[in-house]
Amino acid sequence: MNVLIVDDNAANRSLLKALFEPLGHSVLSTTNGEKALEAMRREKIDLIISDILMPVMDGFRLCMESKRDEKFKRIPFIFYTATYTDKEDEEFALSLGADRFIRKPMDPEAFLGIISEVTQQAREGSFKPKEMALNEKESLKGYSHRLAKKLDKKVKELQKELAKRIEAEERLKHVNRYLKSIIENANVWFNVLDENAQVTMWNKAAEQISGYSATEVVGRREIWEWLYPNEKYRHQIAAKVDAIIRKGEVVEDLETLIRRKDGETRIISWYSRNLTDERGSPVGSVALGRDVTRRNKAESEVKEIARRYRQLFDANADALYVLDKDGRFLDANISAERRYQYAREELLGMTARDLAAADLKDRTADRVRQSMMDGAPFEWRHQRRDGTEFPVEIAPSVMDFGGGQKAILSAVRDITERKRAEEEREQLQKQLNQAQKMESVGRLAGGVAHDYNNILSVIIGYSELALEKVGPNDPLREDLREIYIAAGRSRDITRQLLAFARKETIAPEVLDVNATAESMLKILRRLIGEDIELVWLPGKGLWPVLMDPSQIDQMLANLCVNARDAIADVGKITIETGAVAFDRAYCADHAGFAPGDFVMLAVSDDGCGMDRETLDKIFEPFFTTKDVGKGTGLGLATVYGIVKQNNGFINVYSEPGQGTTFRIYLPIHAGDIAEKRRKDAEKAPRGRGETVLVVEDEMTILALTEKLLTNLNYTVLTARTPSEALQTAKAHAGEISLLITDVIMPEMNGRELAQQVFGLYPKMRCLYMSGYTADVISHRGVIDREFRFIQKPFSYRDLAAKVREALDQE
Ligand code: ADP
Ligand code: MG
Repeated sequence: MNVLIVDDNAANRSLLKALFEPLGHSVLSTTNGEKALEAMRREKIDLIISDILMPVMDGFRLCMESKRDEKFKRIPFIFYTATYTDKEDEEFALSLGADRFIRKPMDPEAFLGIISEVTQQAREGSFKPKEMALNEKESLKGYSHRLAKKLDKKVKELQKELAKRIEAEERLKHVNRYLKSIIENANVWFNVLDENAQVTMWNKAAEQISGYSATEVVGRREIWEWLYPNEKYRHQIAAKVDAIIRKGEVVEDLETLIRRKDGETRIISWYSRNLTDERGSPVGSVALGRDVTRRNKAESEVKEIARRYRQLFDANADALYVLDKDGRFLDANISAERRYQYAREELLGMTARDLAAADLKDRTADRVRQSMMDGAPFEWRHQRRDGTEFPVEIAPSVMDFGGGQKAILSAVRDITERKRAEEEREQLQKQLNQAQKMESVGRLAGGVAHDYNNILSVIIGYSELALEKVGPNDPLREDLREIYIAAGRSRDITRQLLAFARKETIAPEVLDVNATAESMLKILRRLIGEDIELVWLPGKGLWPVLMDPSQIDQMLANLCVNARDAIADVGKITIETGAVAFDRAYCADHAGFAPGDFVMLAVSDDGCGMDRETLDKIFEPFFTTKDVGKGTGLGLATVYGIVKQNNGFINVYSEPGQGTTFRIYLPIHAGDIAEKRRKDAEKAPRGRGETVLVVEDEMTILALTEKLLTNLNYTVLTARTPSEALQTAKAHAGEISLLITDVIMPEMNGRELAQQVFGLYPKMRCLYMSGYTADVISHRGVIDREFRFIQKPFSYRDLAAKVREALDQE
């Protein structure tokens, strides 16, 4: 059989096809009534199964058409419908002539049962097709009625659905409005950006915080330039926003600094994330911002105060640290780190005991307890990491270290300097005391010496007078001579005392210490004897000094004699000179030294040396360790006096059995260097080979004078006594141009001697010399004023000048 299926639904068509073909039927499918009629005209159809609701021509119309047509009205017509399922619809369909009315969905068994019944009847010829029961008008009316009803139903359904949808939309709108008002009025900055970072929403809080209104910013991008005027900063922010929108980054608690429209700045803390559509593609971002300016300000103020306190703590020059009650470090400043050579972290793991000097460690715990109680400052000693110890003064103060924990804040001052200064002061005080003692002793000695000098002058004067009165063979003569000699010795001592007391007249001049010392060497050698070697080590580049050259002679003589006495039999004495400069630092370390340039004159020996006790007293006048008659105790006192008079200083180094070194520092005479050069250029007037007779009882002076005059190109005759002088004068073959004689001598005075020699050499000139001033001598009537006079001790140049003067005088 050929079955025609009419259905606009492809699924229904293929379902029916699948039902019929296995049963041996051939199936023809069409999609509407018109197509079905065409097929029926083309082919022989045995059965029609049709849907009702279809486009172009529905099932009702198809049924009507086929039942009206003579050729088709016998083909069984079966409705198969899902839309028109009412009883009314079935009745209407059957009245149109439909043979069967089947409602979808129907169980295939039942469906096939109905179909096979119809086909069976058709095959057997017993099928009685239905006739259309309605006329044309009736059927059309029914049809339109059906249609209207159906449409009405559909409209109602649609209306219902529409109503539902409208309600939902309303609700959504309401929710949106509600949300919007919440967002609008929230006191949190809320803004939405689209995927181009353009502002699409900007709430009231955003307006208030930024100062820009929504109308100004919505739909614009420039807002970022306004909020972040700094270009670099703006780029950073833009990159962040881009990451949020495009990469889905979520920002939380990000703080940025914005500039308000009025130019003020605000700190905003942001939460921001992206917005996406249903498919998850980025469509923009939403940002919530809180104004945290005030909070930040408060926080940064607290931080600033803390930082400032830390700075004060660290900047303190004193080491500061905090200890708990067990002496553990709770904090320490930079000065403490530096002073103790531990990093702060290390100190925090240590206790006060670790910093205490070795011998104080065991007392530390008690000390900490004590500080907890009284908070009184105390002196202590500390130890650095390298073990070096130093004195400190600790000022503790008890404090609350937070949480009620009691702690000690200790300010520690390094008092090394102070201690040193104290010691130095003590030392200086001692020296001052010593100097004062020397001064008073000196004054006393000077006073005594002065009186003694007068007395001695009388003794000497009268013993001289007495000597003149007694004859050469008088038994009293020897006694008087002894008195005279002893008085002379006393006078020498008195002179030394006067030198010590700085009362002796001196004639300072700018001189070269090397030259002066060198001129003394021969005499010094004689003084110390053959068993002792004398080494001379002149230094180079010495500045001149301003002093009386005889003082140098005197110092050298005294020091060398002492050195000789210190050496038992054989040994060595070294005289050394050098240029030295002391700066302030050196003088700060060496008590009694003054800064400046000096000429150093040193006398060393390898003799017995001295112990501490002796060293402390050697400069005192009359201090001697030597036997009575051997030592006077005035040698070093004299040296000391000379050094002080010349603003120099003296330093002794000695150890028992090791020898002794005396170093004398004489300040250079910088001011007179030019003068000295001039004087040097102006040569000492020299002799023309004239013969000079020198009379002097002091062996050393005689030798010195002889040497000087020989150097000055004079022929020198010497005599130690007036009688010797007279003998020499008589014995001499040629001229004697000049007599240089001491004024006060045993046997006869200088004047008497001169008169006697004048008898032999009438053209001879005379030059007197004396340790006394010319004034004293002329006063005593020993010499006449017009006679030439040179005061002992004299310099080379003085002598040269005076000798020349005397010789050239008319
Ligand atoms: P005197 O030589 O008359 O004793 P000084 O004033 O010259 O007096 O010396 C004082 C003391 O200093 C000496 O008695 C001696 O004990 C000691 N003294 C001086 N120079 C030296 C020296 N070079 N070596 C050892 N002791 C010395
Ligand atoms: Mg001496």
